Amino acid sequence: MMEQLGTTCENESCERPLGDEEPMLVYETEYGERRAYECRCGTVTVTVHRRE
Ligand SMILES: [Zn+2]
Repeated sequence: MMEQLGTTCENESCERPLGDEEPMLVYETEYGERRAYECRCGTVTVTVHRRE
């Protein structure tokens, strides 16, 4: 498992940084906050931000 430092597109041929994008969707689970980013290439990348 990789730690999420900077968020990049999951599409290996794209890998655009998504950190400056507004998340398309943000929701909370008991494990932390999840953010879904839709890249301009059409790939949706979901990140998990664990509560410290
Ligand atoms: Zn992309």
